[in-house]
Amino acid sequence: MQAVQIVEYHQPFRLSRCGIPKPERGEVLVEVKASGLCSTDLHLLDGRQKLGKLPRIPGHESAGVVVELGPGVTGWRTGQRVVVVIDVTCGRCRDCLTGQTQRCVDLQRLGFERDGGHAEYMSVPVQNLIELPESLSFKDACILPDATACMYHSLVTQGKVGPNQKVLILGSGGLGVHGIQIARLAGAEVAATSRRAHRLKEAARLGAVPINPEKQDLFEAIREFTGGEGLDLVADCIGTQQSVSQGFSLLRPGGKLLVIAYLDQHFEFPSLPLFSKEKEIIGCRGTNRLELSEVVELVGRGRLQSIIGATFPLSEFIQATVALQRGEAVGRIVITR
Ligand SMILES: [Zn+2]
Ligand SMILES: [Zn+2]
Repeated sequence: MQAVQIVEYHQPFRLSRCGIPKPERGEVLVEVKASGLCSTDLHLLDGRQKLGKLPRIPGHESAGVVVELGPGVTGWRTGQRVVVVIDVTCGRCRDCLTGQTQRCVDLQRLGFERDGGHAEYMSVPVQNLIELPESLSFKDACILPDATACMYHSLVTQGKVGPNQKVLILGSGGLGVHGIQIARLAGAEVAATSRRAHRLKEAARLGAVPINPEKQDLFEAIREFTGGEGLDLVADCIGTQQSVSQGFSLLRPGGKLLVIAYLDQHFEFPSLPLFSKEKEIIGCRGTNRLELSEVVELVGRGRLQSIIGATFPLSEFIQATVALQRGEAVGRIVITR
């Protein structure tokens, strides 16, 4: 099969030919029809995350068709259309037992520690399958496990977003455009930042107040947006010291900063406002099966929209990464088959 591989850190992705994986006990073989390209895929090349034995096939947003059942698999049949949950979890630790599998102590991720979906086929544990409604295309479905469900986990579960709250989304890329919709769906008023005109236009189309921090004073814009009160929630999809500092200082007393991205290795916060204003800084990692099922349903019913700015065939994966780095697309870039 054709697959994208990380062969060595600090080297470019390689488009290779390799064997189709054989589904092990409890796994199924999925013919991948579409996979989402995340900027984390690019960051994997820097070696900061240990991927185990290389080569590794990246890709943590995948949708496709079940084509083979491994030994011991029941309840699934070939031909079923599925989207794939990223985390392969132990099922035994305290967080797994309460359904908070995104915090599993013994966690592996498809497209990280295990081979992922930027390939023609992938082998997946059955617990990681969610069936797709007919109304959902593979292209729209593939990005849900990360771009959409991660924002759903962050805003709904971690942030408890609700009606009339004032929410700021920092960064209107692949995550941000889905975050805007989720916060709006929850009844919040939303502002969103980007330095790129085409992304701000999309943010505005989705109902957010667009802010370009290079052209506008962000603090002034938020003062106006919140009537001087500050924000209930900031979802930081940028992950730099500058972005989290800005987000933190824009919060109202008791406001929550959702840390969704982690480009910089350390974040520093001033202690006095954290203490005296009882602000909260909340880490938000990935999603769990329940949240992804809810997102699949919302998108299937047309309540949320997958925003896909460009598609590339698997054979043009490298060109897709260039487009991602240039920030040309609005929303996600999807790799089709
Ligand atoms: Zn990702
Ligand atoms: Zn666990």
